[in-house]
Formats: sequence, structure tokens, C-alpha cells
Amino acid sequence: MSIADNLQLIKKNIPKKVTLVAVSKTKPITSIIEAYGAGQRVFGENKIQEMVDKQAQLPEDIQWHMIGHLQRNKVKYMAAFVSLIHGVDSVKTLKEINKQAKKHNRVIDCLLQARIATEDSKFGLCGIEIATILNSTEVKEFENIKIVGLMGMASFTNNKKQVKKEFNTLKDLFDKFKTNHKELKIISMGMSGDFKLAIEEGSNMIRVGSSIFGSRN
Ligand SMILES: *Cc1c(COP(=O)(O)O)cnc(C)c1O
Repeated sequence: MSIADNLQLIKKNIPKKVTLVAVSKTKPITSIIEAYGAGQRVFGENKIQEMVDKQAQLPEDIQWHMIGHLQRNKVKYMAAFVSLIHGVDSVKTLKEINKQAKKHNRVIDCLLQARIATEDSKFGLCGIEIATILNSTEVKEFENIKIVGLMGMASFTNNKKQVKKEFNTLKDLFDKFKTNHKELKIISMGMSGDFKLAIEEGSNMIRVGSSIFGSRN
């Protein structure tokens, strides 16, 4: 199946309100152009330098999402154009994004990464840490960032019950914070192997790579 066919099949099977982020990391420009030609406009990369290189070669109306763990010293390279940063997990990082966004007179949307996986749980914040950031007066004074939702990654396992439970944990956190933080709109969860389950559990943004572009080396 072609990239266009893969995209069409996924789009047919997800509700309209769910945003599909096409994860193009490690894939060549030609593959992105093929997806773009099929109407895809939202792409995700996990390395800042790779995203910057690709952005320079591709149409202006692409929305670039940074989905990987952030290296703070590289935030400046993407501040001019990045449309959403998924994996924010500290005030320090928010501060740097705010500083760089200000230079470009922009407000950059960010998601806080929640630690939901019981395995591979190196990154992400627990519920208390998320609450602390959302209510922090320091963060409230950052005028060039906007926290618009939460992101999470489930454990890398075939155990569906466990993955479902982890997605449910993120949805519960999201609903809890949303009551006092109306600006939270996005819940980014689900990848190639688990996006159907993620949507059932309340996701409205999925990050899909290999099911669109084929497996990565
Ligand atoms: C690579 C990656 C994806 C996409 O993974 P696939 O299994 O290829 O769909 C989604 N989210 C993050 C954070 C990633 O790094």
C-alpha cells in the first residue's frame, strides 16, 4: 500500500475530531511530499535538527509538531515555526520555550507529558507535578507559551488491558485538570499499535508513524 492509501485508511477509521499527526521521523522528504500530496498537513518529528532541516525544504503550510524529548539548548532552532510541542516535562523547559518564542513574537502551544507507563517510564510528570506546573505563578507569567493539553505514551507491551488502563489514567488526569483549566483541549495519546484503543479511551490527537510511512530501520 502507498503512503496515500495508508493515510486514507487511517482517516476513514478515526472520528473527525481526532487530529492525526503523521510521524515522519527518519523518513525522507519524498515520503513527506507524498503524504502532503494526499492532503496531510500535520507532521511530527522527534529530533529538533531533523525537523528544522525538513521544514526548510517543505511547504510553509505544514504544521510541525515536536514529539520527542526536548534538548533545551536546541529549542531556539525551531521557535520560529513549531506549531505544537508535545513532550514538555519541566518548568525549566517551559521557560526556555517562552524565551525563544518571545524573540519571534509568537505564542507556542505546549503539552505536558504525563508519565503513565509502568514500564519504560523515564520521562513524564506525575499528577502532582502537573498540578504544580499548571498552578505555578511563574508559569502563568510566561506570556509566550500556552499549555493546551497533555501527552502520554503507554507501555511498550502487547498487554491490551494494561495499555487501556494507562490511557484511562491520562484521560482521568486530563478531565480532572480541565475543570479548573479550561485552556486544556488536547489529549495526545495513541501510536500505530494502539491508536484505536487510545481513541476509545478519549484521545483526540494520535501520533502515527509506521502505519503511514512503513517501519523504520
Ligand atoms: C515514533 C513516535 C511515534 C510514532 O510511532 P509509530 O509506532 O511508528 O506510530 C509516536 N509518538 C512518539 C513520541 C514517537 O517518538
